[in-house]
Amino acid sequence: MKFEDLLLAPSLLRSIAAEGYATPTPIQAQAIPHILAGCDLLGCAQTGTGKTAAFALPILHRLSQANLPTHKHSRKTRVLVLSPTRELASQIGESFQTYGRHTGLRLTVIFGGVGQQPQVKALRAGVEIIVATPGRLLDLMNQGHVDLSAVDTFVLDEADRMLDMGFIHDIRQVVARLPRRRQTLFFSATMPPDIRQLADTILNDPVKVQVTAESSTVDSIAQSVYFVDQRHKPALLQHLLRSDGMGRALVFTRTKHGADKVARHLEKAGIRAEAIHGNKSQAARQRSLEKFRSSSPPVLVATDVAARGLDIDRVSHVINFDLPNVPETYVHRIGRTGRAGATGVAISFCGGPERADLKMVERLIRMSIPVRTDHPQYAATSPPASAPAGQRHPRPNNTPQGAGGANNRKKQRWNRKARSFGRSPR
Ligand code: AMP
Repeated sequence: MKFEDLLLAPSLLRSIAAEGYATPTPIQAQAIPHILAGCDLLGCAQTGTGKTAAFALPILHRLSQANLPTHKHSRKTRVLVLSPTRELASQIGESFQTYGRHTGLRLTVIFGGVGQQPQVKALRAGVEIIVATPGRLLDLMNQGHVDLSAVDTFVLDEADRMLDMGFIHDIRQVVARLPRRRQTLFFSATMPPDIRQLADTILNDPVKVQVTAESSTVDSIAQSVYFVDQRHKPALLQHLLRSDGMGRALVFTRTKHGADKVARHLEKAGIRAEAIHGNKSQAARQRSLEKFRSSSPPVLVATDVAARGLDIDRVSHVINFDLPNVPETYVHRIGRTGRAGATGVAISFCGGPERADLKMVERLIRMSIPVRTDHPQYAATSPPASAPAGQRHPRPNNTPQGAGGANNRKKQRWNRKARSFGRSPR
């Protein structure tokens, strides 16, 4: 299929050609005709599948054909896109701007963490498209700065992440203030029951579109795992980052504090790295991202929330410094490498307390991740109980089996307990 076959406006086809897109991705080929036909859509697709263009192109097509008023006082907001993070909202905004640059349509991106005045000014000037994170949008709505009465297309992107981040009430409040007659496009990488329930309440007889990027992404990535003691993780990371063939690496930690710590540790060791997480100002996050995009520094340490939806191309390695405790997150993380046909490398560090997380990931991706036994100096001091015999990590010679085993069992019991308290609600 070609983009021309989708019958998009010539102004959009020009932008698509300028972007160098040769053919629509599967989610685009499947979703665009239904969106153009005005259907509601339930899309199961993750970042990296081209889903932003899958909704942005038909939306821009429709608006560009609609003969909208051009005078600023008559411009009304017709499209609202909700996104869970500031970075993702910015990227969606950039995509709309890129694809719609020949359409004359206006857009603004609204998110928290920055002053609201420029956003209020942009809204006053009149925009057809708003891309927003839920919190700031509600703030501005409650202050009377946002008029959603003419919205006829509503997009909820990364719905699963929205729920993970506790946005459910905000979403419901926003939806309650949208016109009932509208087209709703709902995207989520995963479809657990709470997501389906939310989809049921806001979609009207949706067309369902699913792209199976998850397994194909996973297949094209060389995955491996080290069983490593928590305290040895920083040294192993350094070692790997210094090895040959390491290009741009994205390192994931579970916590913001962890991300800062790892970045500091690397800097101390002479490896240039930046941390990106929700506690950093919007400007600082954008700066880190821009620097990483130009490979200076070549290492970005990120939390899941901060990295979610970020369009970071040509990452050679994803390193899971900590394994995520939600298995789908593993798939999202490693999907950052091996994009667009390139093979990527995903290396995970599995500390003692993380064995159960690894098992859950392996169950989800339906394969056991090969265990690496090079760098035995950093090896975990107990074998993975769950790994098949042939894959067990060799116990270092200096670890006494008896005492170490008892200690480790105790440690594991404690860790299991700690983890069950720490697990995020889903
Ligand atoms: P997304 O899933 O929306 O985050 O898109 C992932 C990446 O794919 C972005 O860098 C887009 O610029 C790129 N992309 C989107 N559609 C296409 C296409 N049809 N051909 C090539 N690249 C694309």
